[in-house]
Amino acid sequence: MSKIVFFSIPAHGHTNPTIPVVAELVSWGHEVWYYSFNEFKEKIESAGAKFISCDKFLPQITEGEIDRIAGKDFAALIEMVAETTIALQDRVLTDLELFLPDCIVSDSVCVWGKLFARKLNIPYICSTTTFAFNQHTAKLMKQSFMEVFKLIIGLPRINKKIKLLKDHGYEVKNFLSLIQNDNETDTIVYTSKEFQPMHETFSDRYTFVGPSINRNVEARKLSKSRKLIYISLGTVLNQNKDFFYKNCIQAFEHKEVDVVISVGEKTEIAALGNIPIHFTLKKRVNQLQVLQQADAFITHCGMNSVNESLYFGVPMVLYPLHSEQKMVANRVEELGAGVKLVGIKPTNLEQALEKIFDNSSYQKNALRLSDNFQNTGGAEEAANVILAKINR
Ligand code: UDP
Repeated sequence: MSKIVFFSIPAHGHTNPTIPVVAELVSWGHEVWYYSFNEFKEKIESAGAKFISCDKFLPQITEGEIDRIAGKDFAALIEMVAETTIALQDRVLTDLELFLPDCIVSDSVCVWGKLFARKLNIPYICSTTTFAFNQHTAKLMKQSFMEVFKLIIGLPRINKKIKLLKDHGYEVKNFLSLIQNDNETDTIVYTSKEFQPMHETFSDRYTFVGPSINRNVEARKLSKSRKLIYISLGTVLNQNKDFFYKNCIQAFEHKEVDVVISVGEKTEIAALGNIPIHFTLKKRVNQLQVLQQADAFITHCGMNSVNESLYFGVPMVLYPLHSEQKMVANRVEELGAGVKLVGIKPTNLEQALEKIFDNSSYQKNALRLSDNFQNTGGAEEAANVILAKINR
């Protein structure tokens, strides 16, 4: 029996793919600890791991800052990870010196897991829920002027936090080394080699295991009299900015379709006005179940949402909100499984969806990728990568 410790940041998108991996390891008799945040306690414990709460060690982050971090303000991100590392270190280092894990698996953005593994000389695996990222793929992630501007003006803040980490005995070359994947680290990537752009630029230390989907929620496609459109902007930047949800309602209120919208925890459904009878609006849905019944998905292009959509062969209308999501949207468009939204007026939404339904190639390409995804190893392969590292 091996002892494995997971670390992740407080984000569904970075936690969800690891849950089936934890469940797999636990079912094979291994002991798993998971350092995470209270919002994820239930799903972590239901996978069989011991949950350790890190909430009180996280710096107080305001809503605006979450938006900035999620929108990839690197200075804000590095500040958050450096402060969390320092706040957590006494607790975690003491725990782990007693528990003596065989391996630490930490999310690529959850820098503290990597730093603790190095400090304690424990084998480390990087868990990457986005596309793997190196200097080659960075060129594809066309950052907006504002993102580059924020990075430049944020450099002094970044350097200050890197110095702080160094002063606490952590080896940090530069800020890119904190967040970029590298060819020397064993890395699990939760998408397929076919979907990963420029996969040939990554070493054989990378395993592209494909989407890690909890197979227990798989349901059979129901026979439906009309098409189902699913709409979600994910779990982070999902508020009703620029009337997006209202426009969706207007776009499809007279259409012979069913519409399910996941509006996110902070959107007030009552404030969206009259909801037509063929619409279902919820703060959160079981996305894996809804996708299995959906004919099209209007998505913000979070990596997990896109992976899940393609896993079930659902073509997409692509509405990315920041540069990382734009890179995902570009890849879907390139592979012919979705169309980009040119604006968010009701007519834009209507036309994009008509394009998907009028041209069967979108569905065919989504099904081709579904076949590819369903033939990857998923959570089981990820668990095997972890055990292989331990037994090497
Ligand atoms: N999700 C869900 N129900 C919802 C909305 C989202 O279960 O109503 C899940 C979705 O299945 C995915 C994750 O939350 O696994 C969202 O991750 P993604 O990377 O797509 O976007 P993010 O929320 O990180 O922007």
